Amino acid sequence: MSMDTQSLLRALPKVDLLLEREDVAALAATHSRALVTDAIRETLDALRADILAGAEPDVTEDAVVAAVALRAADKAQRSLRRVINATGIVVHTNLGRSRLAQAAVDAVAEVAGGYSTLEYDVESGERGSRHVHVEKLICKLTGAEAAMAVNNNAAAVLLGIAGLARDKEAIVSRGQLVEIGGSFRIPDIMREGGARMVEVGATNKTHLRDYEAAMTPATGLLLKVHSSNFRVVGFTEEVSAAELVQLGSQHGVPVFEDQGSGVLVDLRKWGIDYEPTVSESIAAGVDLVSCSGDKLLGGPQAGILAGKWHVIERLKKHPLARAVRLDKMTLAALEVTLRLYLDEEQALLEIPTLRMLTTPKSAIGERAVLFADAIAAACGDAYVTGTSDDVSRAGGGALPMADIPTVVVTLSPQRMSVTELEVRLRRGETPIVARINADRLLLDPRTLSPAEEAEIVSALKAIAGE
Ligand SMILES: *Cc1c(COP(=O)(O)O)cnc(C)c1O
Repeated sequence: MSMDTQSLLRALPKVDLLLEREDVAALAATHSRALVTDAIRETLDALRADILAGAEPDVTEDAVVAAVALRAADKAQRSLRRVINATGIVVHTNLGRSRLAQAAVDAVAEVAGGYSTLEYDVESGERGSRHVHVEKLICKLTGAEAAMAVNNNAAAVLLGIAGLARDKEAIVSRGQLVEIGGSFRIPDIMREGGARMVEVGATNKTHLRDYEAAMTPATGLLLKVHSSNFRVVGFTEEVSAAELVQLGSQHGVPVFEDQGSGVLVDLRKWGIDYEPTVSESIAAGVDLVSCSGDKLLGGPQAGILAGKWHVIERLKKHPLARAVRLDKMTLAALEVTLRLYLDEEQALLEIPTLRMLTTPKSAIGERAVLFADAIAAACGDAYVTGTSDDVSRAGGGALPMADIPTVVVTLSPQRMSVTELEVRLRRGETPIVARINADRLLLDPRTLSPAEEAEIVSALKAIAGE
């Protein structure tokens, strides 16, 4: 070790002395003494490592305290926090899928901060069931005899398969052996559910006779999976739920349809591509249908199971049901979201996912012009601003082919590269996530609230003024 290295190491301030400084005491008052002590130790460790690696960092107390302040602020930052989604991807899986309706947010806060009727019947004063909070609503909205909700649709599919087809054969079309996000694959989930998968048909075409030929005395389930996140286009054919129901009933075999996105109302009225609704599956006579709560339904992360009374009763009593059950906060959000659907107009207005998907391009365009003007007024010549026709997306592995026409605000930064601007917005106090196209940054008002637009203007102004 050289003399320089040794003297630098010796010059590093001591933890106790740093903690006695007034500015460090102020930091401890904002964060906590434990957090600031950790930040000091980590800062000194990092400086020591730098010195040993041959660097000559500033080791004066003031410099060290400045580094400690930065590290403390970083450590105090919550990991899971709000971001502003300017991408125009409405159900953005990485950004938490659906935003909840305000009424749902309020209900979550109410049950989270107090005791609740989660499993308590106030009429009788006795133990109740957590299923009651959403079961009647799901039945009313879908036409099902019975229903329950679990942790997510992956759990719903697992529970459905384990409950109906464990140690039996389950027939599924080769065109429906999909992978949905990270680690959810139909063949894997069927194996985990204890069913023996029997694949029929070809990737693009499966006929009723393929299912018929595969029926054996060991057949326990006909599974239909909606290919929500991709499309096979061209020379294709699928067997409808109604045909499967007919085949199943001839053999006494139940039909389970994984509908996926949780569409409860026909969105064609608002120009959105056709997606089969949960009610259509029920009307076709399937024994069980499942969907997500936080995709196009616009509620919290959840999996909905609806269908025949005897099937749902069996699933409620299944040992896995407890492992995948919902907590009170999610149930509160789901109940309120479903209640909004009782009035379709109210649902469209108050459920953010539905509202954003159905806002016409003309209305987005008007907002984009005002938004671009506000940025130009606040930031002078730091950015060349404009608006441009573009497309928003449903996201969340739903409506993969649907281009939703939109108008975006375009920004060309004049004093930095567009990638630098993107990074700085993303790393700000409240991260702002935007898209880049060529050398312009795109901000889609479709997924922004007016308050968020104002926050973006402030952030752009701060970046421009640095
Ligand atoms: C999204 C999806 C799933 C998985 O649902 P999660 O709620 O994400 O667990 C399963 N099946 C289909 C058809 C889907 O679209």
